Amino acid sequence: MSVWDEVTGQPQAVETLQRAVRGSREHADDPQAFTNSWLITGPPGSGRSTAAYAFAGALLCPNGGCGKCESCVQVRSRSHPDLTAVVTETLIISIDTARELVSRASRSPMNADYRVIVVEDADRMMERTSNTLLKAIEEPERTTVWVLCAPSETDLLPTIRSRVRTVGLRTPDVSDVADLLVRRHGVDRAVALRAATESQSHVGMAARLVTTPEAWDRRDRALVGVLGMASVGDAVRKASEWVAIADEDGKAASEDRDEQERKEMFRSLGLETGTAIPRQLRGIFRDLEENQKRRAKRATLDGVDRILTDVQSLWRDVLMLQLDAGVQLVNESQRPEIESAARSSEPSRTMASIEAISVARERLAANVPPTLALEGLLVGYVARQAHA
Ligand SMILES: [Zn+2]
Repeated sequence: MSVWDEVTGQPQAVETLQRAVRGSREHADDPQAFTNSWLITGPPGSGRSTAAYAFAGALLCPNGGCGKCESCVQVRSRSHPDLTAVVTETLIISIDTARELVSRASRSPMNADYRVIVVEDADRMMERTSNTLLKAIEEPERTTVWVLCAPSETDLLPTIRSRVRTVGLRTPDVSDVADLLVRRHGVDRAVALRAATESQSHVGMAARLVTTPEAWDRRDRALVGVLGMASVGDAVRKASEWVAIADEDGKAASEDRDEQERKEMFRSLGLETGTAIPRQLRGIFRDLEENQKRRAKRATLDGVDRILTDVQSLWRDVLMLQLDAGVQLVNESQRPEIESAARSSEPSRTMASIEAISVARERLAANVPPTLALEGLLVGYVARQAHA
């Protein structure tokens, strides 16, 4: 067992990070031998934060990342005293958060050789916020390690980009994700393969499909009938159904995660789940609940985002058949509908529908109400089909 077990299908990245951990131990007296500021990039679901915490775990563990010791357990529950985990509850990282990080980064570690600061969504920093961090990232304390995560290097300001060492993750293979699901959740391989395919190798989503039948059912419900929509009325009805599903899905996802975090918190504090929380620890739980409440506000939008990703995979399947691309369909279970849609339209129209998804995403990011943005998307799709 090791902290790296959960990092799926990323042999090169793991090798690079493991080499850095080894270097930090073997050349502890040579400050040049170790890079203190890192950036982990990769597409959504490739496991950026999983890799970041594995790296943190390996640096903080007295055994180099055994996955079993107290330090490793604390990293897993994000409660290690020398780990700062920045998880964005809001859409952007505030300047106050950045200042707090700079102050933490200047302190020496308490228990371990390093103090590790993981910023899960470093792309959610405005320019002013990035500038606050700049000096701390450029000339970090020898014992401070920054691990930023972002979809790609271009999501960060050039000033930050040039001061970090980048490790890129790739989209893991469907079979790697399926292997992980079989190993971790004990599911049937055929089920694991379907989940890995339908989630397009997004590890977190794939795991959610196999462990939460309701989530899988919501995905199916969101996509059913989309390709057969024929009128504006159909489009408007589907859009409002999507919002309801997204709301349900978002709430369920945050409840699952909240419960998981609460359990981890109990465990890391050495408490039996469900026992009374000692007075002196209540503040910690209050903070956790505050964070969870803030995050819940984003839940519906996260649900909408998942639906858009899924419908994109559906239209992409149509396009692949139209182009005769000979690739595996993401939504094999809908093959008849996909074939029929491919015949009754043409690639340019399908492309236009896929591009309209980006427009819908931009409108959502600009605070357009989800119902409006989704109606716009689906009405446009119906109109394009009608002209076919
Ligand atoms: Zn350990």
